[in-house]
Amino acid sequence: MKHACREISQLASDSLDRPLSLFERLKFNIHLAMCKHCRNYSHNMKFIRKITEMIDTTNYGEIRLSDEQRQRLHERLDKSTE
Ligand SMILES: [Zn+2]
Repeated sequence: MKHACREISQLASDSLDRPLSLFERLKFNIHLAMCKHCRNYSHNMKFIRKITEMIDTTNYGEIRLSDEQRQRLHERLDKSTE
């Protein structure tokens, strides 16, 4: 992973927990426009976050991923490592 990519992946993860500054957003968006790897990474991170939130908000983990959802998750993760 290139140095810039590492920084961007950190920003992607930060952006889930706090609002990014204008400068950070600019840097992030410009990099994503150029870098397919980080686009996939950021996309996958949001996807995984959505699933985790879904699981967190269900009562006592009663709802589990269906086979199809699990399959889709694996497909997305495979794509991110291409
Ligand atoms: Zn990158």
